[in-house]
Amino acid sequence: MVKVQDSMKYDLIILGGGPAGLTAGIYARRARISTLLIEKIGIGGKLPLIDIIENYPGFIEIGGMDLSQKFEEHVKNVGLEVKYAEVTSIKADADIKTVKTNDGEYESRAIIIATGVKSLELDVKGAKEFIGRGISYCATCDGPLFANRTVAVIGGGDSAIKEAIFLTKNAAKVYVVHRRDALRAEKILQEKALNNPKIKVLWNSVVREIHGDRTVSGITLENVKTKEHRHINLDGVFVYIGNVPNTGFIDVKKDPSGYIITDNGMRTSADGIFAAGDCRSKMLYQVSTAVGDGATAAFTAEQYLEGVL
Ligand code: NAP
Repeated sequence: MVKVQDSMKYDLIILGGGPAGLTAGIYARRARISTLLIEKIGIGGKLPLIDIIENYPGFIEIGGMDLSQKFEEHVKNVGLEVKYAEVTSIKADADIKTVKTNDGEYESRAIIIATGVKSLELDVKGAKEFIGRGISYCATCDGPLFANRTVAVIGGGDSAIKEAIFLTKNAAKVYVVHRRDALRAEKILQEKALNNPKIKVLWNSVVREIHGDRTVSGITLENVKTKEHRHINLDGVFVYIGNVPNTGFIDVKKDPSGYIITDNGMRTSADGIFAAGDCRSKMLYQVSTAVGDGATAAFTAEQYLEGVL
């Protein structure tokens, strides 16, 4: 069993309360490691913002909020200590690592970074101006505001197509604006979207401008092949053009996009620092892979704390 040192507050600090961090917390507590989980906003990370999850084993279909609540019950059951604060920097060059937050400093011998990603913002005229007034990065939160209206979803990945399907519950029409002639999303999502009479995909198209007065009233698109511009009247724009990792606060080896590079034990380039979930450079970004990363990171961290590694 890991020996808790008197001179420090925790043996392990986990940064991030999404599926990876919570799983790491469950495994760490079951290994009787003194553990603190620090989360910026709320338990579940981005999970509660997902309408329906259909590929997490054991649940043919489960709401993101429901799955998140189940994870929360589980971490409470194992007695995981959770602190709400934003991490600003980590001092990782000594045996005792210091995590600085906007609400105090915490020390530990090992750290698991599971801070996930944030949405990439659309960078066109009007995109910033109309946030909250027709432009949204969360269909689950804002979709119901667009009942019987026309909206556009920007992007062609899993998030864009999933959320376009969700938006059809309320909206009268959903345009999917995609910059290529093929979607990146899972085939099953593509089938559902392309067979949905409320969804129309505008292929080879990028947004050039968002128009409106008090709220969004339309968008200008450019066809990337013909260079033709067209105007579409609509009421809302939902942006799903990918993500950037929340990793700016830690100085470890990263890929060119800022995702943390680990080995298959989730070890980073810094001694005693592990990474798990969407903030790590890997092949597949899913709840199921985040959970696997979290379990592995906790297991490897335990070995590190016991001096086995
Ligand atoms: P993503 O897979 O990176 O897709 C981003 C989409 O936006 C792509 O179609 C991309 O086009 C397009 N795009 C990127 N930059 C753009 C720009 N500046 N203007 C217009 N379009 C732009 O992001 P995601 O959909 O958020 O998914 C992130 C990860 O989470 C993925 O690994 C995904 O599989 C996973 N995920 C899984 C599920 C699930 O249920 N299985 C749900 C959500 C997310 P191109 O295709 O041309 O690059």
